[in-house]
Amino acid sequence: MAVEQLRRDVFDGSALRADFPVFDRPHRSGLPLAFLDSAASAPKPRSVIEAVADAYGHHYANVHRGIYELSEDATARFEGARRAVARFIGAPSDREIVFVRNATEAINLVAFSWGRTNVGAGDLILSTQMEHHANLVPWQQLATETGARLEYVAITDDGRLDLDDLRARLAQRPKLLAVGHVSNALGTINPIEEVSRLAHDAGALVVLDAAQSVPHMPVDVTRLGVDFLALSGHKMLGPSGIGALWGRRELLEAMPPFMTGGSMISKVTLEGTTWAEVPLKFEAGTPAIAEAAGLHAAIDYLEGIGMDAVRAHERFLFEQARDALAALPGVRLLGPESADEHAAVLSFVIDGVHPHDVATVFDHHGVAVRAGHHCAQPVMARYDLPATTRASLYVYNDLDDVERLVSAIRATQTLFGTA
Ligand code: PMP
Repeated sequence: MAVEQLRRDVFDGSALRADFPVFDRPHRSGLPLAFLDSAASAPKPRSVIEAVADAYGHHYANVHRGIYELSEDATARFEGARRAVARFIGAPSDREIVFVRNATEAINLVAFSWGRTNVGAGDLILSTQMEHHANLVPWQQLATETGARLEYVAITDDGRLDLDDLRARLAQRPKLLAVGHVSNALGTINPIEEVSRLAHDAGALVVLDAAQSVPHMPVDVTRLGVDFLALSGHKMLGPSGIGALWGRRELLEAMPPFMTGGSMISKVTLEGTTWAEVPLKFEAGTPAIAEAAGLHAAIDYLEGIGMDAVRAHERFLFEQARDALAALPGVRLLGPESADEHAAVLSFVIDGVHPHDVATVFDHHGVAVRAGHHCAQPVMARYDLPATTRASLYVYNDLDDVERLVSAIRATQTLFGTA
């Protein structure tokens, strides 16, 4: 289906499913698959799968070294993917895009390289109670190793960042604030422009975990005013094994390498080594060459729809799902009520039924959701929950999927006698 036809505010997600071969696969329930777990990882459109196959089939050689045509071709395509990522997130320069494996590696890169250079004993680092473990554990490690203090910005009962608590903690002039754009456990969209302004006024750098925002809404690093941004390709229709770190150029240039070895050097002698320019300084070893081609195709696909349209589509589906869940007794949705502050990630509990049982019953109804702590155990602890069930929506979902979700909840409640 030509995505150009879908340049409208709200489009028919089911029409896009023809682009995704995984939806041709029969489900053991005998029902069409209602895939509501895109926040974990998203299916791939044919164009992405073909781009990876084409890269391996017709354009494959190692990059940045070969003095022959095939390698030049592979290098040009790899660097083209870097430019696409830069454009997609509004980065001032493609030299500020570092290819990594995923958002986790991007954050670790900052924690190891920037952190071990700039954070010392007694310094304060801020994270939040809302973070995925990927934006929490690396800062704990940094604090443990350097003797720095680590504090967490509180979250409110309705799943927002507590901005009063943020202001109070910023008054202690932390070195850094590590914050998520969209919570994968609550669906909350944080007001990052305001948060960055407050952090910068207090002299702190901002590391933004954008794993759940870049796939779903327009993201512009300049507008957001952050200093580093982490993303994963696999959540935005691209391949697994590739992600990106964006960082302000002067910060990246001042940072030591994260990993060392081939590709990231300028000159090596037995006495010592000088580094390549950024971003190659941070890309030791052979990178994910074909995956970069797939990520480029994923960006083309999303840009073909338009990120404003993606956001409008998901916002519409979220509102429908939120209202439908609110009408069901015994079901509680976490996170802010307003669609302005809530992405299409619905984390909920059904009274009297453990989320793992919920997900198992849903699977029998052809509805794929995630159940557990969502790599955000402090969020579960904050709300005194062992786990939640999470339904997350993307471009290929439609109102029918929302109805399937509601029917699956009803069926679960009937089965467990909690209706
Ligand atoms: N941050 C958030 C908010 C996430 O949802 C995830 C993935 N669940 C990550 C970071 C980590 O992404 P990855 O596993 O691709 O490194």
